[in-house]
Amino acid sequence: HASERFDLTALLRSAVTWVAKAQMADLIVVFDLPETLDIDGHPGHLHQVAMNLVQNAIDAMTGAPCKRLELQGRERGGRVVVTVRDTGPGIAPEVIGRIFDPFFTTKPVGKGTGLGLSISYQLVRDQGGTLTAANHPEGGAVFTLTLPAIGGAV
Ligand code: ADP
Ligand code: MG
Repeated sequence: HASERFDLTALLRSAVTWVAKAQMADLIVVFDLPETLDIDGHPGHLHQVAMNLVQNAIDAMTGAPCKRLELQGRERGGRVVVTVRDTGPGIAPEVIGRIFDPFFTTKPVGKGTGLGLSISYQLVRDQGGTLTAANHPEGGAVFTLTLPAIGGAV
């Protein structure tokens, strides 16, 4: 697959539309994204990554009193940095070191394969990016995706 130039803001919005809107009536989605955010990469791969992160956020917020999904995008230091934050219970400390492992899941059989994050990690790494997980001090999980910016320092 050749790399191509595309708008990451449009891609992230599309991923949320596909995954999120239909599933949860009381979901609040906050986009904190530049109007456009052009990068060079593999749009199909990154769409899959974005859908995986959004699906995980939604799964985590099932039953949560506040269901708020926030996607933030910034360019800084030659990188494009995207965060996907939810208001679910966060990632349990005893599993946080394993969530990127293939087939690691805390979901019941039929609800999760445990492949989403491991595939996402590889797809992101294959285009010079990084994918990390953390818990937000105010609660919920935050996934941070970085990619090389156009013309950014290597
Ligand atoms: P799956 O979604 O099929 O379980 P993933 O690889 O996408 O597989 O995720 C692995 C595990 O990481 C999940 O089962 C869950 O325990 C944890 N996880 C992923 N995203 C979140 C999130 N937003 N909040 C809390 N835990 C999460
Ligand atoms: Mg998943």
